[in-house]
Formats: sequence, C-alpha cells, structure tokens
Amino acid sequence: MPGRLSVIGLGPGSTALLAPMALSCLAQAGAVVGYDRYMEMVDPDLLQGKTLFSSPMKKEMERTAKAVEFALAGLDTVVVSSGDSGIYGMAGLVLEFLEREGLLDTVDLEIVPGIPALCAAAALLGAPLMHDFASISLSDLLTPLPTIMKRIRCAVEGDFVIVLYNPKSRKRDSYLGQALAMAAEHRGPDTPVGFVRNAYRPDQDVRVATLGSCDPEWADMLTTVVIGNSASRLAGNKILTPRGYFEKYG
Ligand code: SAH
Repeated sequence: MPGRLSVIGLGPGSTALLAPMALSCLAQAGAVVGYDRYMEMVDPDLLQGKTLFSSPMKKEMERTAKAVEFALAGLDTVVVSSGDSGIYGMAGLVLEFLEREGLLDTVDLEIVPGIPALCAAAALLGAPLMHDFASISLSDLLTPLPTIMKRIRCAVEGDFVIVLYNPKSRKRDSYLGQALAMAAEHRGPDTPVGFVRNAYRPDQDVRVATLGSCDPEWADMLTTVVIGNSASRLAGNKILTPRGYFEKYG
C-alpha cells in the first residue's frame, strides 16, 4: 500500500505560524522532503528518526520524484514548502508529476494550507490588502519577462494593490525598479509601499515608505513588497487600504 503524500506550507518562519494540520502531518510522517533551507526551519524533534531528503533550489523535480518514490514504498511522506505550498510552492509540481506518471489514483495526495508570505507581510505592514489585490512574482525562471511586465502593467491600470514576490535575485536586480516606476506612472508619489524582509523570522525587517521615497535596494530575495492602490494611505506608521466603511456608514 502506498503511503499518503502530503504537501504542506511551513508558514513564513516562526513555528507559532505553522498551521496545526501541517504540524500533525509532520508529526505522523515517515519521510520528509524539502528544499534544504526550509528543512532547517522545521523543529529537529519533528524530523528525528524519519527518512529525510533535502536538496538545493532548482532541484524541485528531483525532490518531487523522491517524495513519490517514498510514498510508493509505503511511507507517509511530507513535502515542505515555505508559506503556503500552493502559492509559488511545491503543490502544483507534485500534482502535475502524479498526473504525468499516471499515479493520481494510486497515491493519496493531500495539500495542506499554510500562511503565505503575503498574509505575513500584510499583517506586519498594517491592513494593505483590504481591497482587491494582485500577486505577481518577479522571478523569470519559469515565466517569460514580457508576461511578468504585462501583468504588472494590467494590475497597475486595474488599480489593484500589488504584492510582489521574488522581487530580486543576483541575476535580476532591475525588475523591481521597473515595477515601481510603472506604478508611479498611474499612482501618486504618496502611495504607500511596504518592504517586509524575513517576516516572522529572527532577522525580520519591516519598512514602510512611499512610491516617491522608497528604494528598490531595500529588497532582496527574502523580501515581499506591497504597493498600495490609489486609495491606500499611511495611518500612523501602518499602511491602510480603506475598504469603504466610513464612506458608506459615516
Ligand atoms: N510559498 C511561499 C512563496 C515562496 S516564493 C508563500 O506562500 O509565501 C519565495 C518568495 O516568497 C520570496 O522571494 C519572498 O518574496 C517571499 N517570502 C517567503 N517567505 C517570506 C518571509 N518570511 N518574509 C518575506 N517574504 C517571504
């Protein structure tokens, strides 16, 4: 009998934000598979005595194959992502792998939700996501750059609050500046912009600024950036996107 294959999200970092359902999957697992930096985020006691497989970034296919191999060998297997596994995480790849291998009816797949970086970042910044928002990853590893830029342009024109994931890497350090410049074409210089680096991890850094004053250099690959819409404003040192209660009810 194959074991159950679970794909979980660890949340942004702190174990206090690991969802109880994900925690119980980890506790019951016979095997745990993940990107090596995320495996380091898991409480070592939860990994003790289990079959473990970790590998670096860009080895996602290999990790997926290994996890399926463990599950087929009868181990309850957990694949870990950061944040939520279904948001730029491992859930889609595992599902696609099972589909391609014709294993959808053989392996019992469970995808367990987690707290994504966009929720963690929003909470630390105030309440920037109270109205419609678009989440866009600036990583062009799997997505063509023109597609990314088109999505930013459409989100700016649609007046969405914009969450930018993967804002920077060593190979691409100009995209965030371009995204902020596109936003500034339609939104005023006072539009709030938040930079959250390492949310709910020991070296957390939260910066609230505006389109006119922010510096793309503040971001790295551990940062999530939130750009307010035309109604967003600063409330003290927090970012607020009003939903419209006071306009409607006074
Ligand atoms: N599955 C994850 C996203 C992984 S993509 C989720 O649901 O959040 C990796 C990107 O997520 C990083 O480049 C960064 O933009 C963001 N990210 C992940 N964890 C973060 C954290 N603790 N603080 C800030 N940004 C984070």
